[in-house]
This record gives sequence, C-alpha cells and structure tokens, in this order.
Amino acid sequence: MRFDVITLFEPMFAAVTENGITSRAMQRGLWSLYTWNPREETEDNHRTVDDRPFGGGPGMVMMADPLARTVRRIRRSGNVGRVVSFAPNGTRLTDETVRRWVAEDRDMVLICGRYEGIDQRFLDNYVDETVSIGDFVLSGGELAAMVLIDAVVRQLPGAIKELSTLDESFSTGLLDAPHYTRPEVWEGQAVPEVLLSGHHANIAKWTREQALELTLRTRADLIEKAKASGKLSETDRL
Ligand code: SAM
Repeated sequence: MRFDVITLFEPMFAAVTENGITSRAMQRGLWSLYTWNPREETEDNHRTVDDRPFGGGPGMVMMADPLARTVRRIRRSGNVGRVVSFAPNGTRLTDETVRRWVAEDRDMVLICGRYEGIDQRFLDNYVDETVSIGDFVLSGGELAAMVLIDAVVRQLPGAIKELSTLDESFSTGLLDAPHYTRPEVWEGQAVPEVLLSGHHANIAKWTREQALELTLRTRADLIEKAKASGKLSETDRL
C-alpha cells in the first residue's frame, strides 16, 4: 500500500518509517511513504502556503492552490487512491474503518492541516473523506496521519502475526483482557493463578470473562454493538 502525505513537517514521519512494526513492514515492502511539502508548489519568494481568513478571526488558513497543485503532482506520480484530510469535524476513525481500508487495499493521499485549517474549497473539490482521531484539537494533522498509517499498516497481511490482530481490542467486539509477564510475583502482587495452570480452556474462559468485565465497566457502548453484531456468544455471562 502506498501513502503520499502532504505536510509542512516531513521529518515528523520518521516516527513511523524508522521505528517498530511500521518500519519493519516498510523494509519488507508491505507499504511505502512519500512526503510532499506544499511549499514546493508555490511561486512567490516566501513560498507562502497560508493567508489570513476572510471574515476576520485569529490565525491563518492553508491556501487551496499549493495543496491542489501537490495533489495533482501526486496523481501524476501514480497514486490514484483515496484522498483523506484530518480535522476535529471529520468522521471518527474506528477499527472498522481501518479494517475496511486494509481489505480494499487502495493507496492513500493524506493531507495534514496546520494553523486554523484548510480553505474549504480545496476540501470540497479534492478530498474524499475527512477523519478525526478524537474530540480534542491537535496543532496539526501530522500526528493524526501517523495514527492512521500505524493503524492501517499493522493490519496489512504479514506486518505482524495474524493471530495478534484477530484477538485484540475491537476485533473481538470487546476490549483486550489484561496481560501479565515474569516475574510471577512483583511488588507483592501475584499473577492470576489460572494463567500459570497451563489449562488452555480455563485460560480462554478467564480471558474472555476479564474482557467482558473490563468492556462493561469502561465501554458499555461496545457491549451493545457486540450484541447487535452477534459477537457475544451464549456462554458470555454479563
Ligand atoms: N480550527 C480547527 C478547529 O477548531 O476545529 C482546528 C485546527 S488545528 C489547530 C490544525 C490541524 O490539526 C487541523 O487542520 C487538522 O489537520 C489537525 N487536527 C486537529 N485536531 C484534530 C483531530 N482531533 N483529528 C484529526 N486532525 C486534527
């Protein structure tokens, strides 16, 4: 899968290209990333990409033209995939959307806003979807773009062991159960005994009960969704 990112801060993307799972997946050829600075598509001496908002108000707005030119250049270079921008007013990114995008296997062009945001005319004419990563305001779209990239890339076949993504939060309909590792006793607290028993059925039952309890306590909305989508079984006791 190919990602082309339009950003004023290209070096930030080393976070996903040079670290961990996403970096290894890139080395294996599962995905590629190209960054594009819209300043390259300006013609004035100052390489201006922003201007004051019509109607007044604080802050600056990203101009439509340098962004549109950059998208057209990306198109010419071969990425004809989905164009996504980021904003608090976008559709909330979910595990469901991420899995759908992975299944569709389309390249993506990601537009990172800065300042007060992007001229609406660019968004109306060049962007397929606007994504929010939560109800808070970031300084720019770069971290949101990297959240999207990380969430998608780790689901690409071969990025991590398939089992890891099958039993993690949301894919089961629930949140993940707690995890423990050595030592067996740490600061006076022992690991739950069942996990040391080697009894696979009992461990699976305990894990499911923990996931149910945790989800019910912190995200009861997910329980309703899991019921509706048939992800809760007869043996699940709430
Ligand atoms: N004026 C905007 C508002 O009040 O909604 C906030 C603009 S914010 C300072 C600058 C950029 O950060 C946005 O254009 C967007 O790309 C990004 N951004 C901020 N919060 C975000 C969020 N919750 N999800 C996704 N992107 C976000």
